[in-house]
Amino acid sequence: MSAAPRFARIAIPSPLPRHFDYRLIAGDPVPAPGTRVRVPFGRQELVGVVLGVTTQSDLPRDKLKSIRRSLDSEPLLPATLMELLVWASAYYHHPIGEVMATALPVMLRRGLPATAAGEKRYVLTEAARRLPPDALKRSPLQQRLVQVLREHAEGLSAARLAEVVKNWRDAMNRLTARGLIRITEEQCLPPRLAGQHIAPQLTAAQEQAGAAILAASGKFQCLLLLGVTGSGKTEVYLRAIEEVVARGDQVLVLVPEIGLTPQLVTRFEGRLNAPVAVMHSGLNDSERLCAWQMARTAQAAVVIGTRSAVFTPMPKLALVIIDEEHDASFKQQDGFRYHARDVAIKRARLENLPVLLGSATPALESLHNAQQGRYQLLSLPERTGAAQPPRVTLLDLKRLKRNEGISPPLIEALQERLTRKEQSLLFLNRRGFAPVLMCHDCGWLAPCKRCDARLTLHRDVRVSREAGSRERPIHQRSRKLRCHHCGAEAPLPVTCPACGSGNLHGIGEGTERIETALARLFPQARIVRIDRDSTRRKGSLEEKLRRVHAGEADILVGTQMLAKGHDFPNLTLVGVLNADQGLYSADFRSEERLVQQLVQVAGRAGRADKPGEVLIQTHHPDNPAFAAIAHHDYREFGRYALAERQTAQYPPFAHLALLRAESPKPDAALAFLRAAHGHAQNLMEAEVVHLMDPMPSPMERRAGRYRAQLLVAAGTRKALHDFLSVWMAQLEAEKLGHRVRWSLDVDPVEMY
Ligand code: ADP
Ligand code: ZN
Ligand code: ZN
Repeated sequence: MSAAPRFARIAIPSPLPRHFDYRLIAGDPVPAPGTRVRVPFGRQELVGVVLGVTTQSDLPRDKLKSIRRSLDSEPLLPATLMELLVWASAYYHHPIGEVMATALPVMLRRGLPATAAGEKRYVLTEAARRLPPDALKRSPLQQRLVQVLREHAEGLSAARLAEVVKNWRDAMNRLTARGLIRITEEQCLPPRLAGQHIAPQLTAAQEQAGAAILAASGKFQCLLLLGVTGSGKTEVYLRAIEEVVARGDQVLVLVPEIGLTPQLVTRFEGRLNAPVAVMHSGLNDSERLCAWQMARTAQAAVVIGTRSAVFTPMPKLALVIIDEEHDASFKQQDGFRYHARDVAIKRARLENLPVLLGSATPALESLHNAQQGRYQLLSLPERTGAAQPPRVTLLDLKRLKRNEGISPPLIEALQERLTRKEQSLLFLNRRGFAPVLMCHDCGWLAPCKRCDARLTLHRDVRVSREAGSRERPIHQRSRKLRCHHCGAEAPLPVTCPACGSGNLHGIGEGTERIETALARLFPQARIVRIDRDSTRRKGSLEEKLRRVHAGEADILVGTQMLAKGHDFPNLTLVGVLNADQGLYSADFRSEERLVQQLVQVAGRAGRADKPGEVLIQTHHPDNPAFAAIAHHDYREFGRYALAERQTAQYPPFAHLALLRAESPKPDAALAFLRAAHGHAQNLMEAEVVHLMDPMPSPMERRAGRYRAQLLVAAGTRKALHDFLSVWMAQLEAEKLGHRVRWSLDVDPVEMY
């Protein structure tokens, strides 16, 4: 017989990259992996997750503290999910405690009880909160209950109350009768709408794709659904989900941050005869806990969520779908830098189930995997109904004069749409009025004081045209300089700080300037601008989209916020104002991103009965990226872009990790990276990886901090990870590391 375990390995939310051992409470049941415990940690008490129990600890027994209390009688995180989290911690080289914390809703991280969803909670009413302290002094039990509930604004369940106040029921009934207590029963799921939306008759290609997904049931298999915009990918998802849910199983649907619109959720709820839970960053803590509980108890058949929903426990999970799988928002850019798509694929492997990636413009990595036969490729080559792909024309800016960024052929096309009472969309991935403020006498450019960047000129004209009122823009007062990197704001100088001239002008175009130019060119047109600035207020994006759908807008101007997900049946013209922003950049992914954006935005033009037209303004009409867009052949782009990646040995032909450091002191970050580089060269493992020289980041100073980076590349994942494991241990011990903030980004998406 093996010895009884005496210690538990606990993941504790701490930046230290390891777990901690604690003594078990003698006489208590041995805590299961995936349950939470309260433990003393330094001078605090923290909530940790049990990773496992052991009979031995590396630390001497008298050095070990004891667990204070077990919080759960059963695991909150099932075994496969624990395995996934441990894997993610190792793969992304991020502390296990912080990884575990990512998987738990905030309220559970704080140690609140994981009450079953639908359980009653007792909450103080306003009247009870206003009671003077000694109001209940003649009934100590009632007084005690009010006291306890004051500390728990979200209320407590019967089970929790019983733990803290003995014989509480009678007192509680009396408080309730006096109107001092409200009993709530949490309703986490939105009302069922099933039957409100009717499924269309699927096309043969859709049927085939749906059948292929279902045929993969019960085993690990990656499928890539490559479907041009408007080809009906969502219908394929819904078909597959219906079947899985009908069998009593669960489906996880991951969508990009801006893809999770109320319209999408309504579409899913309206079609599926099953409860849907939604998870995104806009939920408050108790809504999030609620949705999580519905998923964990399988009361929700479908979970739709953004990035972090990939860690939701779902006991009957049978299918994972990742919509717009190429979207950059699946990668977390700070802290625990995981990629939700890659984690989802690992999860599907561990749980032995199919995972479907869908996109009109898949990441080159995914396309490559499909070409290599690792993913099963499903394709929807045509738009549904009679819809023709839009005609794409390139407008050569070398030969065309522009009126505030808009060339004559584009102006003509806009005029045509106005006459025909159709809608147009102008796409420009640059918000603000002008990206630079310049002195025309001495060439001074307004800089950000804290970044190596220029300030953007903003002129919020939203007060006038957008509301459709007759008010004039309040020019001087609403003008501002703003840094798009650190958020700093500065007033517009009246004269040039360098030479004193008053000859200051905004150079180049942002969405605000285009909006103003359009108002001048087409005084009768109703213009709607959609970008981060114009949609800051809650509900304003929805209101703008409503106006577009209701036909209360003629021209939309906007950034990538407009590029996907929206279906505007009366929109027949898409103009791309400056397609060159992503070409020839330092980041090897910038061209891929540009093509993805342009294909998505072009996909907004034309639906069934109205053919669409796309006009792209560029200085480089011969760039092959545009040819692929004009031919509606993303795979054509994929072929030559992948060939380029192979020549340059970039992903997917190499595996990367980026070590970043930053400090308010000019040279500290580079000094640390040089030391890191030195350590690496002394390692055996360094022979199989390729280390670049440490260098300042492309924008070295941001928000007052100097930044530098070191890129590591390897031919195989294994080589990279063998190296990183040894190297990271050395970096933890490197003294220069204490003077900077540093982090490792495995499979980086942003290269600076
Ligand atoms: P995607 O997700 O590929 O952009 P959607 O599934 O949103 O495409 O479909 C685009 C439009 O075509 C939607 O309005 C949808 O209702 C419609 N649609 C999809 N499939 C069909 C079909 N088989 N028959 C008719 N309309 C369809
Ligand atoms: Zn000047
Ligand atoms: Zn700045």
